[in-house]
Amino acid sequence: MSRIRILPEILSNKIAAGEVVERPASVVKELVENSLDAGSTRIVVEVEKGGRSLIRISDNGSGMSRDDALLSIERYATSKLYSDSDLFAIDTLGFRGEALPSIASVSKLTLVTREETAESGTEIVLEGGKLLKVLETGSPCGTQVTVRHLFFNTPARQKFLKTIPTEMGHISDVISNMALGWPKIHFKLIHNGSVLQNWSAAADPAGRITDILGKDFSTGLFPIKSENDGVSLSGWMSLPRITRASSQGIFVFVNGRVVRNRMVQHALIQAYGGRLMKGQFPLAVLFIAVPCDQVDVNVHPSKQEIRFSRQQHIYDAIVAAVSAGLVHEEKPSWTPAKVHGPTTLSENLVRAENKYPYTVPASGDGAPAMGSGLKPAPASTPASLPDPPAPFRPPKPTDQPQLWEKPQTVHLNPIGQFFNSYIICESGENLILLDQHAAHERILYEKLADKSMERRIPVQRLLIPETLDLGYRQALILEKLIPDLCRYGIEIELFGKDSFVIKSVPMVLSGREIKPLVIEMVDHIMETGLTANMEKSLDACLKLMACHGAIRANQSLTLAEMATVIKDLEACRISAHCPHGRPTWIQWPKQEIERLFKRT
Ligand code: ADP
Ligand code: MG
Repeated sequence: MSRIRILPEILSNKIAAGEVVERPASVVKELVENSLDAGSTRIVVEVEKGGRSLIRISDNGSGMSRDDALLSIERYATSKLYSDSDLFAIDTLGFRGEALPSIASVSKLTLVTREETAESGTEIVLEGGKLLKVLETGSPCGTQVTVRHLFFNTPARQKFLKTIPTEMGHISDVISNMALGWPKIHFKLIHNGSVLQNWSAAADPAGRITDILGKDFSTGLFPIKSENDGVSLSGWMSLPRITRASSQGIFVFVNGRVVRNRMVQHALIQAYGGRLMKGQFPLAVLFIAVPCDQVDVNVHPSKQEIRFSRQQHIYDAIVAAVSAGLVHEEKPSWTPAKVHGPTTLSENLVRAENKYPYTVPASGDGAPAMGSGLKPAPASTPASLPDPPAPFRPPKPTDQPQLWEKPQTVHLNPIGQFFNSYIICESGENLILLDQHAAHERILYEKLADKSMERRIPVQRLLIPETLDLGYRQALILEKLIPDLCRYGIEIELFGKDSFVIKSVPMVLSGREIKPLVIEMVDHIMETGLTANMEKSLDACLKLMACHGAIRANQSLTLAEMATVIKDLEACRISAHCPHGRPTWIQWPKQEIERLFKRT
């Protein structure tokens, strides 16, 4: 007997569901895509228990006839493709014809639908992919799909579901993304009977951006627009001073589809030239419209990945449009952007010094002496040029090379600065370069950590409290962080829906912009997940505070200021690395330098 069998349809649908229906949010995505494809102008998403017990999408789109409704739940049944050439010119969000049967195979699904011209509607009831009932029913024009008890017959999948807030977060992201891309559509999201979002049709996409991502996201954006050889680009990009540490603030839509595409991201960053710091990303809401036959959307079942047939053309178009927008924004006739952070550099360090209570180690009398011993170069004696700094290693207190060791009394003397970024020091037989930002970051990080344990972080009340408007997801996170941030000296209060006021900041951050820091903290936690490890999240917040408060690169310092940095770094528990693990200093032994000059 043959061992190979054709799988029964219900089973093959379940297998397809494995690819298409990962979690409740994927059901929401597929069903909303169907509603958009059906030309709806109003889409209501109702969810119960994070989508575990109920997901219901109601739209006012075209609806289906009884025959079409019955076909729609069959595998590979679609109204969106007729021939194989259509597959390479898809102008709808769906095309695979597998969402409805896949979802139906792992849930209890009811479909109610009516075409405008039909006198009555059709109701179809399925359970685990099996058709139970088909009825004629009264119904408004449009379609309503109700999915109950998702994964009731696939317990293995159910186990992978996360908590209700996590699943709800994913659903909310899906709706936010779609609503950003389709500003003319009214979207409503209801969870356990309460309305979470209600975005009525926006006159222009900019209004939708403010609705969804918050005012703080949308201020500081500039518009871009271009049309070139069939590719049209439009959207908003952030001024270079407004950046994020991740690409989470980049939203890209290709012909209305939310996509993740590295090439597009790369082009966006490229367009900023040297204006962005390393590791920083701009904010962007970018709409790309390309002829359907120049984009392949059939790359992955979830349809979020795409391929462009004229990659380079799109890349160049993005770089050109964004650079042109930036140049336009930077024209001197425009109101100059507010300068951020302290501008008089030495003043900043003095400020940091005065307002931040360093424990300056007393010299002599038993306390660790300032400018005490310096250990020779750790291990290696390079043959020619010195090795680049060691690659990233998470700092472990035990294996840190100590920069200063107590028994020796070789002084570490600052000589000057290199590139206004590195402090050049001489110490006995060694030439040392200190990375001033990394060193100061380490100093602030340890001080903040110590003081927050003792709940003694010196704070400064803001004369004018700053308001912060966030997106829904960010607001949820920030709300949870409020008590801990208060311990760190950042006093924040909830102020209406998704809005906050910042009332005080730690002294180390006085004179610095507080909002970008708070947004970065929230973004970071959004990426790593808050519930996973609260302590870790808070530690990341401290590191960000240290980073924002620290002396910057390109900041000139006086010799006295350099000496203070050296002194304070000496007092640190882990002086050789900044909190992110980058080295704070590198050194060249005199011997090595002499060898390079062929003196020995
Ligand atoms: P696809 O969207 O890939 O075609 P689906 O399984 O998601 O496949 O849907 C199958 C078909 O059912 C669609 O092609 C469409 O004709 C019809 N359909 C699904 N949802 C709706 C809706 N909300 N309104 C009107 N027609 C719908
Ligand atoms: Mg579909």
